Amino acid sequence: MAEGKIIKALSGFYYVKNREDGEIYQCRGRGVFRKRKITPLVGDHVEFQKENGREGYILDIGERKNELVRPPIANVDQAVLVFSAKEPAFSTLLLDRFLVPIEKNLIRPLILITKCDLLGADEKEKLLETLAVYRQIGYPVILSSAKAGEGADALLSALKGKITVFCGQSGVGKTSILNRLDPALGLKTNEISTHLGRGKHTTRHVELLPVGGGLVADTPGFSSLDFAGVEFTELGAYFPEISEKSAGCKFRGCLHENEPHCAVKAALAEGEIASFRYSHYIQFLQEIKNRKPRY
Ligand code: GDP
Ligand code: ZN
Repeated sequence: MAEGKIIKALSGFYYVKNREDGEIYQCRGRGVFRKRKITPLVGDHVEFQKENGREGYILDIGERKNELVRPPIANVDQAVLVFSAKEPAFSTLLLDRFLVPIEKNLIRPLILITKCDLLGADEKEKLLETLAVYRQIGYPVILSSAKAGEGADALLSALKGKITVFCGQSGVGKTSILNRLDPALGLKTNEISTHLGRGKHTTRHVELLPVGGGLVADTPGFSSLDFAGVEFTELGAYFPEISEKSAGCKFRGCLHENEPHCAVKAALAEGEIASFRYSHYIQFLQEIKNRKPRY
């Protein structure tokens, strides 16, 4: 029996990288996990039986740390949230939208700002001021440029030894920065994002690409930003600085709207919580409250 990690799923086959020698085995699913009614996912640690050279079948699936739906990947360590400094302009509103499902899934976020070569000195200073808010909360931030090579080393060391999903709108430079990290990838610009447009009938193909000692999903994650599955009562938990202050609120279940003796609003008045973060929290809260039931 051998052990490995599924790095690709395609047409009913799972491509397992053998832990011992790094060779890839084309495997089918067959084994005890069928009784447990779970399907193998890219990112799974598996036990498999070798058969006919580089073929085999999966016997068992290791316990998962987490499990994403879009893209379907298990054991994701971190999400790189990609935003361009310009073209399109950086938006804290969109960043905060991305952070909610990532916090809910207990995935470590890393904020990656691309295209920094397009910024003038004043613009860069202004951007750094905004990003300081996120650094203060505890989110790592990397400034980069695929064109100038800025931030490449920092990003490479952040990817090392982890399974990473890149998230971000089309055109922010996800493909370009990955190619910059490892030109051997030879990803076609916009290739990553075209996967998003795949029809539902197309076989889902997911692959983890080896990039600088880590593995990166070839499809962007968290494209759906409608807060599916997030209740308004839990939203505050996904804003770390709000969550931290809420311990001091008088009322249990305080939503930090208009309740008296709210520690979050006190922190906001003191400037300890950034006003734009609080506004986004309130905006998302209203969106979730007004959401129509799906059934
Ligand atoms: P993706 O859709 O997120 O994968 O974005 P792409 O990597 O395809 O890039 C979208 C566009 O942004 C392309 O026209 C790139 O040439 C451009 N671009 C990407 N990175 C940079 C950068 O660091 N600097 C500049 N100036 N343009 C970039
Ligand atoms: Zn409160």
